[in-house]
Amino acid sequence: MSRADTIIPRVVAGVLDGQKASRDDLLECARLAGDSAGHYELLYYANQIRVKHFADTVRLCSIGAGKVGACSEDCKWCAQSAAFAPGQKPAELIGPEELTDAACSARRNHASSFGIVNSGLKPGDPDFQAVLEATRQIEQATASEMRLCASLGLLTPQQAAELVDAGVTRYNHNLETSERMYAQMVSTHAYKDRVDTLKTARTAGMSLCAGGIFGIGETWADRIDMGLTLRDEIEPDVVPLNFLSPIPGTPLGDAKPMGPREILNIIAMYRIMMPTADIKIAGGREINLRDMQSWIFYAGATSVLIGNYLTTIGRSPEDDLKMISDLGLKILDR
Ligand code: SF4
Repeated sequence: MSRADTIIPRVVAGVLDGQKASRDDLLECARLAGDSAGHYELLYYANQIRVKHFADTVRLCSIGAGKVGACSEDCKWCAQSAAFAPGQKPAELIGPEELTDAACSARRNHASSFGIVNSGLKPGDPDFQAVLEATRQIEQATASEMRLCASLGLLTPQQAAELVDAGVTRYNHNLETSERMYAQMVSTHAYKDRVDTLKTARTAGMSLCAGGIFGIGETWADRIDMGLTLRDEIEPDVVPLNFLSPIPGTPLGDAKPMGPREILNIIAMYRIMMPTADIKIAGGREINLRDMQSWIFYAGATSVLIGNYLTTIGRSPEDDLKMISDLGLKILDR
């Protein structure tokens, strides 16, 4: 019997029994999943965790940009950073009407939540007031049927409380990668700022959405360490996983694209690390997964971002809805 026949089922049996997988065991599972037999075994067992906690249900969410471009920060993968596009136009604010139209369109595509996402380190007063107004208009236009989320960067306790009062019930702020790798990717704000913002949002009463980006040169140890920080310190309800779409002009513009099997292994490892969290597949899935889009659910995902992303075009909602229907999965649209 090979190691792949023993450790992956043993780790998953522990997780199904309510135990937390150890860092060493997780690293070993990831290593074994690097060959074909281990890869399919990892997916097979990760799917058992998904089925136990989510049965045949999935959720869809959608995002709209509230403020675009000219960001002061230097996240190396991001096309919105002014550091990589000198002479970029000033940041553009998107009006509440346009965001409300986007939310209504997402609702028609069965999204149960809509997030307003702003570029920048933290909200300034005009853009923050615009988010509050957009939130109120979307609540009215969708008859409060959608969960409203916001992703505005670093937050003060006062801003967090105002978002809650306006109807925002979930805050997104990604850790992006491990603390070790983060220091190589971003120099303009600290990992701790991100952790603190998530805790501020939680204290104000918001549910948390926090994940990261892969394909930026990180190792498996980085992937697992971010997952363990999320699992043990942050406890998000939703974990968005993004896969780099290299954007020309950014420092990662020439990065080698990820392969589909590696992406599926990451999804499966996050399902094992956080068995009851909603694992959401977000940016970069179409270009990196190619023909293997539908495998994300077998690997353990329970949610996808439907429609376009912030800086790249997504798959058509019709294709995603057809894929989910063909798989016999049911969309929870509340
Ligand atoms: S990821 Fe966000 S904070 Fe970083 S450069 Fe892009 S818009 Fe700015």
